[in-house]
Amino acid sequence: MQLTVKDTKTESKDCFSLILEKPENFSFYPGQFLDIGSPREAGRIFSISSSPTERFIMLTIKLTSSSFNKKLQGLKKGDLVSSSHPAGTVVIDDSSPIVFLSGGIGIAPHRSMIKYAVDQKFSLPITLIYSNSDDDFIFKKELDEWVKQYPKLKIHYINTSKDGRLTEEKLQQLYPKPYTQHTGPSGQDPIFYLAGPPKMVDDFENILLSMGIDETSIRTDRFDGL
Ligand SMILES: Cc1cc2nc3c(=O)[nH]c(=O)nc-3n(C[C@H](O)[C@H](O)[C@H](O)COP(=O)(O)OP(=O)(O)OC[C@H]3O[C@@H](n4cnc5c(N)ncnc54)[C@H](O)[C@@H]3O)c2cc1C
Repeated sequence: MQLTVKDTKTESKDCFSLILEKPENFSFYPGQFLDIGSPREAGRIFSISSSPTERFIMLTIKLTSSSFNKKLQGLKKGDLVSSSHPAGTVVIDDSSPIVFLSGGIGIAPHRSMIKYAVDQKFSLPITLIYSNSDDDFIFKKELDEWVKQYPKLKIHYINTSKDGRLTEEKLQQLYPKPYTQHTGPSGQDPIFYLAGPPKMVDDFENILLSMGIDETSIRTDRFDGL
């Protein structure tokens, strides 16, 4: 499928969003990704960072030095990009409270899911624990706006260069077991969604497993290649 570039937007010092026109018949679940490329070269996978409730498709891309990434950085309004259909099975599930653990660019699929929950007026408690190497948190302004619209959304920003990395102890403080103040109407445990560079996701997952969280409650998006 060919998608038309609508706009580009600088999101932080090392990342930008590619905003694409959304074809009429285009549908996806929050959390899915696209394989962007051309018939002649291997593509790269990017999570869709927009929500199905928005009128555009957005990909949020970390700047790298590869020639592929440079081509994406050079795209202009009206250019065409080749894309797969949306794919991926880590999608939002509105049956349990949600805890997102995002590492840097891993916020991309989580933005889609949070925006969707806000627009669809979910009633679930949602916690975002967003770890970044500095204070340049992508989407911070809009995330902070959404907290006002969705009072059950709680956000904890962790600047790892100031606060250190997420540890079991820190997570226990931010999200104490047995989740008493967060459990849903039927008292279920949350689903944990993890996304970001593979090493970060592995670290987050090990913390959760060492806290005794059942692996069936953990959904991971490892951004292989970063
Ligand atoms: C499910 C998923 C979602 C992702 N979402 C995002 C996103 O939202 N934003 C974002 O910026 N990046 C995302 N990525 C990472 C992205 O696909 C690229 O890997 C990344 O942008 C690096 O690309 P590059 O052109 O700099 O890679 P290169 O410098 O060309 O490659 C770096 C190295 O990684 C290898 N590699 C590249 N891609 C992959 C891959 N998919 N699997 C295994 N090895 C690989 C290459 O062979 C090479 O060895 C995602 C990856 C996955 C798997």
